[in-house]
Amino acid sequence: MTTAISIKLEGEVKITPENKCSFCKGATCCTYFTQAIDSPRSMADFDLLLWQISHRNTQLYRDSDGWFLLINNPCQHLQPGGRCGIYQTRPQICREHSNDDCEFEGPSGEEDFDLFFRDYDSLLVYCRKKFNSWEAHLRKLSNSKKKRARRKKDL
Ligand code: SF4
Ligand code: SF4
Repeated sequence: MTTAISIKLEGEVKITPENKCSFCKGATCCTYFTQAIDSPRSMADFDLLLWQISHRNTQLYRDSDGWFLLINNPCQHLQPGGRCGIYQTRPQICREHSNDDCEFEGPSGEEDFDLFFRDYDSLLVYCRKKFNSWEAHLRKLSNSKKKRARRKKDL
């Protein structure tokens, strides 16, 4: 079945899968990519994620398909107006991307995910709640680093 959304554009125009992309202003699907990751379980796993999410334009979410890093960087081939600069030779993943249930109306928001971490601070709050011993874990890491440095000095 074809889903048709009606929008106003010099009258009533039916948006179909065939013409949908030509009406899309932001081409949101070309402005980010996601990377599936193993489900984090341990404090070390979350510690690593805190480092990853500390990098600019990186977010993290969990949905029914699992955990993903979300990297909000537009593709370098995206042209002003939303066209693809290498359309004829674009990668396979772009050819296979379906505009069914895409971000035509705008980027996904927090409400679209089971868990969503927009930045380092939001993930840190989650870590502190999830692990009672989070602060102790950090102190332990810091102490072992100091011990290693002292041992080096004594050599
Ligand atoms: S797939 Fe969706 S978000 Fe991407 S250009 Fe087409 S309508 Fe826009
Ligand atoms: S190569 Fe083209 S279709 Fe693929 S993400 Fe970049 S701009 Fe979009």
